[in-house]
Amino acid sequence: MAFESLSEKLQNVFKNLRGKGKLSEADVKLALREVKMALLEADVNFKVVKNFVNSVQERAIGQEVMTSLTPGQMVVKIVNEEMVKLMGDETTELTLKPGSEITVIMMCGLQGAGKTTTIAKLAGKFKAKGKKPLLVACDIYRPAAVDQLQINGEKQGVPVFAMGTNHKPVNIAKAAMEHAAKNGNNIVIIDTAGRLHIDEDMMDELIEIKENIHIDHVILTVDAMTGQDAVNVAETFNEKIGITGVILTKLDGDTRGGAALSIRAVTGKPILYIGMGEKLSDLEQFYPDRMASRILGMGDVLTLIDKVQAEIDEDKAKELERKIKKAEFDFNDYLDQMQQMKKMGGIQKLVEMLPGGMGGMGSKANMKDIDWDEGENALKGIEAIIYSMTKEERRNPDLLNPSRKKRIADGAGVDISEVNRVVKQFGETRKMMKQFSGMLGGKNKKKFRM
Ligand code: GDP
Repeated sequence: MAFESLSEKLQNVFKNLRGKGKLSEADVKLALREVKMALLEADVNFKVVKNFVNSVQERAIGQEVMTSLTPGQMVVKIVNEEMVKLMGDETTELTLKPGSEITVIMMCGLQGAGKTTTIAKLAGKFKAKGKKPLLVACDIYRPAAVDQLQINGEKQGVPVFAMGTNHKPVNIAKAAMEHAAKNGNNIVIIDTAGRLHIDEDMMDELIEIKENIHIDHVILTVDAMTGQDAVNVAETFNEKIGITGVILTKLDGDTRGGAALSIRAVTGKPILYIGMGEKLSDLEQFYPDRMASRILGMGDVLTLIDKVQAEIDEDKAKELERKIKKAEFDFNDYLDQMQQMKKMGGIQKLVEMLPGGMGGMGSKANMKDIDWDEGENALKGIEAIIYSMTKEERRNPDLLNPSRKKRIADGAGVDISEVNRVVKQFGETRKMMKQFSGMLGGKNKKKFRM
């Protein structure tokens, strides 16, 4: 889980601070020493940690905190603000040229960093914005790389320009620009060769493309799980070819978070997007403030809302609201809801964005102790039962007599008692909705008037 261990450690430090009524200078210093350890263990760059702790300390032992009624809270606030600053303060948007003008993006990165996957994710984002991207296969050293780009392009419904492996990358890129102009593509994303390690030939090739084609953005993908290595790679690429920004992949599996916290400070270049999973929809815009909130266990409700807005069909949501009010919610709607939740990445990903979702906050159950697989499996079981019903049965659960239930249980490969349980639970939910909608303005409105 992203940032899990760092988040947990920091929250423990803050819990102790909050527990104290007044804070002495020594209390603050002790707490910051623990923050420092936590950041170092999270593989944050040493110099970055030092500067960060100094800035926090300067503010935290000042008047602002010492005279505050809730000094512990004030320290957390300062850490939060400094953390946002560390990651770049503002979100950096990738500027795209208007209309039919072509924006050219060169993607680079070491092999395995997630470059090809990220290109497909980005293409999907641009397409959703109404742009017409063209992907260009310039990694001529691995035939598999061309194929992979083509497969990913197909998945996203985005064209791929390839000339096999016998042409120089710079020539492929030039030909691709002509192709884009002819075919009305207004974003060109060039996939370049990835190597296992940084090597001069790779850099020279990138420089050659950059010198011969007008590139608007040079974006580097780095793997968050490699921690300080990712930061070093970013620093080298920036020195040698000059990058516009970074996409940090695999943050979903990075429990430490060192790269996310160091890259901006070390390279001076912003993180543009973060990869949060293998699915082609798992790319999020990077917001320093939201990231700091996630790390400090304050949740990231804004990203959650973005996700809901991006995935939920508004007409469907309205229809659902109407059905709930009229108590017409049936098993078909239930299935729809499950699909929506899956599109958003499942229960665990959603819960992680809620306050306290990552580490253990206060008296809340520690989320890492929850068996998410068990929860997802239970949902899958319910889903199998509903899928074994006919459409008519899903619409009208009253039809479910014992022989139908037996058929459904056999179809879903479960015991009939499971089917009974699901149907009963559903009936209760519906009853509750009915009462609730009554309160909201049905016939019983008068009853609830004060
Ligand atoms: P490339 O060699 O840089 O082009 O890397 P690929 O795009 O082939 O990705 C390497 C592996 O990382 C693949 O298995 C991807 O599915 C995986 N991957 C890429 N981005 C992410 C991410 O954000 N999260 C996770 N968990 N896996 C990712």
